[in-house]
Amino acid sequence: MATPNLKTASRLDPIKPSITLAVTAKAAKLKADGVDVISFGAGEPDFDTPDHIKDAARAGLDKGVGKYTDVAGIAPLRAAIAAELSRVHKTTIAPENVLVSTGAKHSLYNLFMALLDPGDEVIIPAPYWVSYPDMVMLAGGKPVIVEGKAEDDFAVRPEAVRAACTPRTRAIVLNNPSNPTGAVYTPAQIQALAQVCEEQNLLVISDDIYRQLVYAGAEYASIAAVSPSLAARTILVDGVSKTYAMTGWRIGYTAGPAPIIKAMTKIQGQSTSNPTHIAQVATLAALTGPQDCVETMRKAFDERRIKIVELLRAIPGVTCREPKGAFYAFPDVSTFVGRKTADGKVLGDDVALCDWLVEHAKVAVVPGSGFGAPGHVRLSYACAMKNIVEGVRRLHEALIGLTR
Ligand code: PMP
Ligand code: GLU
Repeated sequence: MATPNLKTASRLDPIKPSITLAVTAKAAKLKADGVDVISFGAGEPDFDTPDHIKDAARAGLDKGVGKYTDVAGIAPLRAAIAAELSRVHKTTIAPENVLVSTGAKHSLYNLFMALLDPGDEVIIPAPYWVSYPDMVMLAGGKPVIVEGKAEDDFAVRPEAVRAACTPRTRAIVLNNPSNPTGAVYTPAQIQALAQVCEEQNLLVISDDIYRQLVYAGAEYASIAAVSPSLAARTILVDGVSKTYAMTGWRIGYTAGPAPIIKAMTKIQGQSTSNPTHIAQVATLAALTGPQDCVETMRKAFDERRIKIVELLRAIPGVTCREPKGAFYAFPDVSTFVGRKTADGKVLGDDVALCDWLVEHAKVAVVPGSGFGAPGHVRLSYACAMKNIVEGVRRLHEALIGLTR
């Protein structure tokens, strides 16, 4: 009898598992085993989903919610998203140009699948959210990484984008505010990037999942709002996970030009069908209900942001820029790479450093190399203040104990 052929598709060969999810799972496993680990892993608000959103879902269940819906989402939700995004981006978006998916991650996956032919290039500014390059590769495309510099607060320079363009470049991913750096593009930077996108005929994939989480006077600037012609080449990716503490409900959405939304809908219709009906009903309540919960959570994140930056900067050898958006701190810990632990082990890179930190200091942080920025680590501060204080204390103690 032949042995079963369990070979998996070669298109998976270059694909790495998501490091944010891996670090989070490792911390969760240690916790389940009774180890007292503090996790700064996944970017997930510790708040419960606000009550009025949960109430709407419960009421929906009593009214027969729980059926297949239109593949692209229920009509009132698409209309609410179109209205909200039209307002934010100062453009007119029709409900037909909105596709609701199973999280913004799914939106992005559908988008790259819909957009890319083999070898098509997508410019991804680094540091980048871990999943962009792998999603582009899964879709057969080629990620082209363009580095943002720390001295520019990691904003990518227009001339660097221009230099990376080739005849195969289709799009640039703009994640504003940025995961992992927390950087927020200024209106002037957005304007300058918009110019290059027009000049080089690029589509703009604007991942705005953190747009409502900005601090210290920073303001979200929309590239779609720059001009009608920019709006016509921009695909907006957004969702409720971060803003409304709805990560597990898995709703994200895309708004963009009709041919692209239609192609994405075709993929969704042949893969996942509609996103979960009850989660769509909850999302409608989130978008159309009272918005004070957003401000309450944003204020709490802001207090934690100020604290975590202060504590990180107090660690000798650590430098930490001020994040002005999202809920991540992204300190430079490169001076600790290559140092030795008490038992003589050399921590040769940021991945080894993070492995050692979780195992020995019981604090989970994500290595910067997963975001295209070796020598850094990412800490999500969407967790309780007491965990921030104790977690960074552990980090501090562990790092200063390393020797050259
Ligand atoms: N984009 C960015 C930049 C993210 O950090 C995340 C992670 N949550 C997502 C998209 C996807 O979010 P979700 O699938 O939960 O909507
Ligand atoms: N986006 C969040 C993060 O960066 C959640 C995990 C993930 O989907 O990557 O931590």
